[in-house]
Amino acid sequence: IMSKEALIKSIREIADFPIPGILFYDVTTLFKDAERLQELSDTMYEMYKDKGITKVVGIESRGFIMGPILATRLNAGFVPIRKPGKLPAETIEESYDKEYGKDTVQIHKDAIDENDIILLHDDLLATGGTMEAACKLVKKLRPKKVYVNFIIELKELNGRSVFGNDVEVESVLSL
Ligand code: 5GP
Repeated sequence: IMSKEALIKSIREIADFPIPGILFYDVTTLFKDAERLQELSDTMYEMYKDKGITKVVGIESRGFIMGPILATRLNAGFVPIRKPGKLPAETIEESYDKEYGKDTVQIHKDAIDENDIILLHDDLLATGGTMEAACKLVKKLRPKKVYVNFIIELKELNGRSVFGNDVEVESVLSL
């Protein structure tokens, strides 16, 4: 049985990173602990093992850690969503507003098709802007179904309100 308390304790809080006033949740301290990493992997596997997931889609770059781990456990493929100019073949993209200026995410056009059941993963849900854009991007490729997963959800920011009822949003830990 996994202990959410132990998982939460393993996350390091860093004040004023990357800029003053921001409290940053550092997941590297969870990942470096073999027992915690195994617990996290087991928990996420239990959440999605019966959903028929065909591809896990991870968001650069902290979604590239648990994304592939989960993909191998689910016998699914792994697909990266990346920042502009990183993916070598033909891409589609989606832009979104950040606190200062815009950001863009890209995916290979042939990475997903209409037979896929997608698990979209990132480490942390804050305002939801990043995942909302990733979700729109994935939906352009018309998969059968999209699940959205985070390790950590910051409840106070209510980021999950950006998603419609057509996607199932779940987090391992709520902070
Ligand atoms: P959002 O778009 O939901 O406001 O921010 C979420 C994105 O920013 C995610 O890609 C996530 O990796 C990153 N992020 C924002 N705050 C934190 C944090 O405190 N810890 C970690 N690990 N990532 C964060």
